[in-house]
Amino acid sequence: MLASLSLLGWPRGEPALSILIYHRVLPEPDPLRPGEIDAARFDAQVGFLARHFELMTVSDAAVALRDGRLPGKAACITFDDGYADNWTVAHPILERHGARATVFVATGYLNGGRMFSDTVIEFVRRVPGPVLDLSAVDMGVHAVATVEERLKAVTALQVQLKYLAPDERDAQVARMLSALPVGPLPDDLMLTDAQLKQLADAGHEIGGHTVDHTVLTTLSPEGARAQVLQGRDRLEALLNRPVRSFAYPNGRPQRDYDAGHAAMLRALGFEAAVSTAAGVARRGTDPFQLPRYTPWGRSVTMFAARMMRNARMGGPAAVA
Ligand SMILES: [Zn+2]
Repeated sequence: MLASLSLLGWPRGEPALSILIYHRVLPEPDPLRPGEIDAARFDAQVGFLARHFELMTVSDAAVALRDGRLPGKAACITFDDGYADNWTVAHPILERHGARATVFVATGYLNGGRMFSDTVIEFVRRVPGPVLDLSAVDMGVHAVATVEERLKAVTALQVQLKYLAPDERDAQVARMLSALPVGPLPDDLMLTDAQLKQLADAGHEIGGHTVDHTVLTTLSPEGARAQVLQGRDRLEALLNRPVRSFAYPNGRPQRDYDAGHAAMLRALGFEAAVSTAAGVARRGTDPFQLPRYTPWGRSVTMFAARMMRNARMGGPAAVA
C-alpha cells in the first residue's frame, strides 16, 4: 500500500526541491509536545521519502540547484536547534533507510543547555495541580488539573516569554522557576559534542543556527555577523570540516532575517541558507533563502498530500 502510494499529481516541469523541517523525534508521543513527531511516524515518513525522492543534504542540494543538476524529485530532511534525539532516535531510523539529514545547531545549547520553550514544558510537566499560580511573578494563574490544561498553560507561558529580549526572557524564566521549585529539570535534551561528532561522522550535514538562537533582525549587522561566525567557528573546530549551510532562527523572511543577512552569509562563504517560508526551491531560487516547510500529517497519505500541496505553491521570489 505504501509502495503504491505514488505521487500522482506532483507538479510536472522543472525539478523542485522540498526541504522539510523537523526539530525533535520523540521515542514515544508526548502530550505536552503535540507538534513533535515520534519515532514510529518518523520511520513511516522517511520510508516514504526514501522511496519517492532523492534525499540530499542542504548544501549538496543547493549546489545541484545552482548547477542545474537537481534530480526531478529531490528532498532534504532538516533538523533545527540540535536536540540529542536527532542522534539517539532519528539517526538509527535515517540509517535504516539510507538517508542523510542536515542538522542546524545553535551551539550555545550544546552539552546540557535547554531552550526556554523546553524549560516551560518541563516545568509545567512537574508542577503539582490543580492550579499553577504564577501571579507573584506576573505570569498569571493557570489550571493544570489535566494534561489538556497543562498543554494550554505551556502555550500561554511560551507566548508570554517568546517576544521578550533574550536577557529579559532568561531573567523571567529564572523568576518563574524560583516562584515554584520543582526539582532539577532535564539537562540532556540537547546534543553533546560527542553526539554531534557522531552525527557528522555518520554522513549527516551539520549547519549553523547561531550561538544563542537569537533572531538576526533583533541584532545590529555586526551582532548578527558575530552570532553566525561564532557558531560556525565552534562547529568547525569541533567537527574539523567546513560548515556550509545555515538556518535563520525563526526563519520568516523580512521579519526574522532580511536580504542583508543573506548577503552576509554569501560573503562569509556559506553555500546555502534556509528560511521557514513554505514552498519548494527551483532553479533561480535564491540559495540563501531556500524555502522549507513543516510536514504535518498523522498518516503517510496525509503527509504525502501536504507535501504535494506545498510543491504546488511554487517557491519564493527568485534572485533579483
Ligand atoms: Zn531554531
